[in-house]
Amino acid sequence: MLKEELVRYSRHIMLPEIDIPGQDKINKKSLAFVGMGGLGCAASTYCVLSGFGKVEIFDFDLVEESNLQRQALFNLEDISKNKALVAKKKLESLNPLIRLSAHKIKITKKNIDSLLKDSDIILDCSDNFETRKIVNNFCFEHSKILISGSSIGWQGQLACLDLRKNSNPCYECIFEDLEDEDLSCRESAIASPLVGIIGSLMAVEAIKGAIEKNFHSSFIDFDGLKGEFKKINIKKNPNCKKCKI
Ligand SMILES: [Zn+2]
Repeated sequence: MLKEELVRYSRHIMLPEIDIPGQDKINKKSLAFVGMGGLGCAASTYCVLSGFGKVEIFDFDLVEESNLQRQALFNLEDISKNKALVAKKKLESLNPLIRLSAHKIKITKKNIDSLLKDSDIILDCSDNFETRKIVNNFCFEHSKILISGSSIGWQGQLACLDLRKNSNPCYECIFEDLEDEDLSCRESAIASPLVGIIGSLMAVEAIKGAIEKNFHSSFIDFDGLKGEFKKINIKKNPNCKKCKI
């Protein structure tokens, strides 16, 4: 590890669960962010600061004024610019020791294999079920770690799915019959800090996944109004259309 890395990551290295070997693992892992909205801005910020060696960002959307309430990497000057490209620029200034790339592209069934195949951990920060289904399918087929966040209103949810093992549940084991009309986050009301809470939790799980410590398939539900976290045990669903195949 370079001297500047030892200094930059010293507060990680002081954690016995991370130490130098753990930080080394983080430095060698590559992450893919699908979506650079509120969750993506928060999760990618902490992942970049944490030193993940390679971070790839995928988002086709442009920054809009109504995004500025919660998408913390953007400001007024970024309006009408591509979210992935703007985020890359901002994140580069936070940590020049890692490799960042941005792709102005919509993830589809056809392109996902070539775009995400080299990533170790996929962070799904998308705002629609169609993309979630495609990402889950890819992670299932390619045995990846999938960390999926969502937030709407005062509620946030986090699914950690270790799809490297066939016996573990997938996203569709939890959410059967994903339909886009029901719960698209794109046009929904949302309390600003919710994306920060869930995005930060996604980054915590990415670190745990990278260092192979305490990372388990799990599901967390957060109610911002009540101030309550609920951890829900998840297991493979015998009726899951994806896992049945
Ligand atoms: Zn399943």
